[in-house]
Amino acid sequence: MVYSAHSGFTVPLDTAKVTSAQGKGLVATLMIDSSQQAPQIEVAAKAGACYGVQRALDLTDQALAEADGSKVYSLGPLIHNPQVIAELETRGVKVIDRLDAAGPGRLIVRTHGVPPDLALPPHTIDATCPYVKIAQRKTAELAASCDQVVIVGDDGHPEVEGLKGYAGDKGVVAADTKAARQIKQTGSVGIVVQTTQSQAALNEVAACFEAPRIANTICRATAERQQAAVELAQRADSMLVVGGRNSGNTKRLADLCAAVCPNTHLIEGASEIDPSWLVGSQLVGISAGASTPLAQIEEVRHALTD
Ligand code: SF4
Repeated sequence: MVYSAHSGFTVPLDTAKVTSAQGKGLVATLMIDSSQQAPQIEVAAKAGACYGVQRALDLTDQALAEADGSKVYSLGPLIHNPQVIAELETRGVKVIDRLDAAGPGRLIVRTHGVPPDLALPPHTIDATCPYVKIAQRKTAELAASCDQVVIVGDDGHPEVEGLKGYAGDKGVVAADTKAARQIKQTGSVGIVVQTTQSQAALNEVAACFEAPRIANTICRATAERQQAAVELAQRADSMLVVGGRNSGNTKRLADLCAAVCPNTHLIEGASEIDPSWLVGSQLVGISAGASTPLAQIEEVRHALTD
């Protein structure tokens, strides 16, 4: 057993290599069908729920405990993980898309944060990840000192929408070099980056501007998960990346893995695994986005091996 620690939050994460010669899981089925050797199953050294996600879930638990039967409202999904959101809904967390849709009860702000001009009701619980808060603060600082603020990120993503609010009318979004080249530099440029983007995306966009002032706000959890996933994918014959299809950081993780291991599959749960993906694999790697609880990673691992 090894431990993945991130800013005080500790996740017990079993990354030991496992074979399933005696198991009844998908891998054992595969061996019977194809008489192939049992592959090793390995979970990336850093994978799954990050500090910010766990903090948001803890704050929600606390809000539910204090709600005394009334609902807790989340402005947009608390995190990008459909199973977790469905489970929270059964416990009384209602997702709303507009502030005026909230009824009596506490409101909770999602991990991705909100623009600064949103008039939140009193007693709102702020589950904005502290790393997103840093990105918001840096965006406001760049807006105060530069003529333009380029936000490296996915336009429409809730975190980016929040950052746009902090950049004001100086803000412009670029996800890649193609978008960056469309931006005409009119003076000093500050660059800030969505916390879950890749370093490569930041470097590529930054290279499109003259003497930009860069605030690298990619969070440590993202960088660590990307490095660990790629390291494993380089050795693996097949990779399973577990997480919500609506999760930008999970999709990016899957893209990075696919670049070095073409047999990479993004799945939301064990039921989506197609055993044919594993045929001929000697090493099956598992990684997971920052919004994927440990239990969902374990469910996939167990489906393969138990
Ligand atoms: S991925 Fe990073 S920024 Fe996003 S919630 Fe987790 S710790 Fe916070």
